[in-house]
Amino acid sequence: MLGAIEAGGTKFVCAVGDETGKIIDRIQIPTTVPEETMTGVIQFFKKYPVKAIGIGSFGPIDVNTDSPTYGFITSTPKLAWKDFPFVQTIKETFSVPVGFNTDVNAAALGEATFGAAKGLDSCLYITIGTGIGAGARVQGKLLQGLSHPEMGHILVRRHQNDSYQGKCPYHKDCFEGLAAGPGIEERWGEKGINLVEREEVWELEGYYIAQALMQYILILSPKKIILGGGVMNQKQVFTYVYKYLPELVNQYVSLPELSDYIVSPGLGDNAGITGSLLLAYQELKKENQL
Ligand code: ADP
Ligand code: ZN
Repeated sequence: MLGAIEAGGTKFVCAVGDETGKIIDRIQIPTTVPEETMTGVIQFFKKYPVKAIGIGSFGPIDVNTDSPTYGFITSTPKLAWKDFPFVQTIKETFSVPVGFNTDVNAAALGEATFGAAKGLDSCLYITIGTGIGAGARVQGKLLQGLSHPEMGHILVRRHQNDSYQGKCPYHKDCFEGLAAGPGIEERWGEKGINLVEREEVWELEGYYIAQALMQYILILSPKKIILGGGVMNQKQVFTYVYKYLPELVNQYVSLPELSDYIVSPGLGDNAGITGSLLLAYQELKKENQL
């Protein structure tokens, strides 16, 4: 039996299951402060004989195993969680192997194994919700360099009719600042869910997403692009992405059939937690070989 934690900014999902993606039990715990949230996490896993635990976490996080702060949440705007030693806390309690990656890298792994990118050695999983983040699988591995990618914070060209300043606390009008849920809400004065009838909202959203996707495609050349997160519940956004992306790319690279190339998660809301189970499995295999 394996354990999985999908650590999000509003809630933690904990699950136990196995490497086939089967989930036996799960709970949701609100993300408050580490002392409180982690007490709930630990209580849940104490009920089960888990052999390893995988964590897909909001970030930024330290994923460099050589670093003294490996396993920590680092410069997050959620101040209570800044410098929280996530891996160490779980390891000290359960003494099992702990896999650790970003929530979006975990989701990319889940989708590549059982979801919309099943059987492909590369894919990109992008969430557009409270923030924007992307995880990438490249040549069969989750992309990691100095640290993990932070693709939500790339710069995009502003639409000529958009004078909204942007919501990113670090860069104001980066992609996340202009196109994540809180930016939509501040620009239009309403939550996205209440803007369903306003086509111009979703057209502008598609315009920014298409720009970001063009850059990801040019740099990573993924075989599948998966768009998840709360904002992507507005399926009309896909239509605008399919409209603007070819205009931007302008036939410089050939794109596959877009409705098959840029899709919703095959695992629905379970991409992250399934990927976290797989992170647990990878870590278990790694430690057993040593
Ligand atoms: P999180 O990013 O915290 O994991 P979500 O992916 O659900 O959570 O993203 C939450 C953001 O998405 C909020 O800004 C919310 O307004 C927006 N959102 C959620 N559902 C919808 C919807 N159906 N339509 C448009 N926007 C939505
Ligand atoms: Zn930013």
